[in-house]
This record gives sequence, structure tokens and C-alpha cells, in this order.
Amino acid sequence: MSLSALSYPSEALSFSSSIRCPLIGLSPGLDTDDGDLRLRPAYLHAVREAGGCPVVLPFSSSDPCKAQSESSFLAAQMDGLLLTGGPDPHPFLYGEETLSGCGSVSMLRDRTDLALFSAFFKLKKPIFGICRGAQLINTALGGTLWQDIPSQIPESLLCHNQPYAPNLTAHQVSVCPQSLLYQITGQSVLAVNSFHHQAIRVPGTGLMISALSSDGVCEAVEYPEHPFLLGVQWHPERLTGTGENAKAAQSLFDHFCACCQQGV
Ligand code: MN
Repeated sequence: MSLSALSYPSEALSFSSSIRCPLIGLSPGLDTDDGDLRLRPAYLHAVREAGGCPVVLPFSSSDPCKAQSESSFLAAQMDGLLLTGGPDPHPFLYGEETLSGCGSVSMLRDRTDLALFSAFFKLKKPIFGICRGAQLINTALGGTLWQDIPSQIPESLLCHNQPYAPNLTAHQVSVCPQSLLYQITGQSVLAVNSFHHQAIRVPGTGLMISALSSDGVCEAVEYPEHPFLLGVQWHPERLTGTGENAKAAQSLFDHFCACCQQGV
């Protein structure tokens, strides 16, 4: 076979010669039962649809020095960080003991996500947190979490763990008009899906609450002093495409990737 027969199609060549698309680092998902790397393709798909190139990052080394230097290196190479969903952050991260309603945790994911957050935050690179990712941002900045909404906020009647398909919305959130979230979506009320039993309790230093559900649970936070640091409690990557409110969901990824592209 000749070399030319092995080369990429012309579209691929023109793609490589055009402006480089932003590299979006994704925190790796973990199967807590068998330790396998596991990440829903919906995250990668939503990033690609927004013009980004998704790159699943490695778990941190157990050696703190290596973990820090590798995270700094990765943050320098990538244009933005997407902190994905997953198990509950360990309550020790925000100075609490484990309550009976707390779910499974992963020290490996906590270590990895915190090292990545710190490295990208230092470089002021865009960071987008989804579900656990939003909670991780909050704990990294010194905030606390509700370990279990049903047992700690029994007066809440909203179902935050919907018993049906993730491409359907489950409840609404009120969006703060002065927020980046409002700027991006243009909507003061958003219908969202819901797959969480924990939530942000006290926001971390510098964070503002950008959306609340009707039971007063924090559904989004952002850091106004940063070009793009946003955490949402719902799963927009599972609402894109043909899901309900797909446009608002995709707009979050579009804006995130555009910020990454601009190098802010
Ligand atoms: Mn919810």
C-alpha cells in the first residue's frame, strides 16, 4: 500500500491546519467497585459538539510531589478543565465526620480532582464542574456540603434523584440575574435534571450562588473573579442533543469551550 493511501482524508488535513481547537481536560471517572477507569461518553460528546477536543486525564500519583508537578504540567498543556460527576467528596475535605446518609467516596478521585483544580485555578484557566465537580470546586475553596439532602433537609419535598431517564428534566432552578449562568443561558428559570443526594451548603471563599431550586438547595455556583469558573449540580451533558432544554444545556459547553479557545 502506498503512503498516500494511508494518509488522512483532506478534511482532516484542513482541520489540522486551521486554528487549533481547545484541549479540554476531563477528570477521570472511576468505577468504585473494580477500580476501572469509567467515564460516560456524553461528557466527551458535549465537549466535541462545542468545538473542543476532550482529553481524559490520568489519576494522580500517590506521591504528592509527583501529583503536583504532573497536574501543573497538564494544566499548562490544556486550555480548560471539566470536573466530571462521580462519588461523594469525602467529608473530611470540609471538616466533617461521615454521617449515615453519606454515599460512597473515592480518595483517588478526591486527590486527583483537587490536584487538577488547584493547578488550573492557579493558571486562571476555565473550569467547569458538573454534579460532583461543582461540589469539588466548593470544597476546594473551603466550602461545605449537605452530606445527604433527604436526611438533613427533610422539609424538602423535591426529588433530587429522579427515578426516570436523564434526558428528561425533573425540577426547575431560579437563576440569579447577575450571574454568568444567566449571561450564558439568558433564562431566569431553567428546567434541569437531577441525580444528586448531596449539595453545596456553605459556598467556598469567592463563590456566589448562581442558581437555587424551590426548596432552597444550591444548584449552581460561580466565581466572579475568574474568567470561567462555574459548577452546576445537574447534568447538562445528558440534556444536550434531543433532551429537554437541550439548547440551554449545550450553551454551557459552548461558552466554556469558547472561553478555553480565547485562552482566558
Ligand atoms: Mn437537583
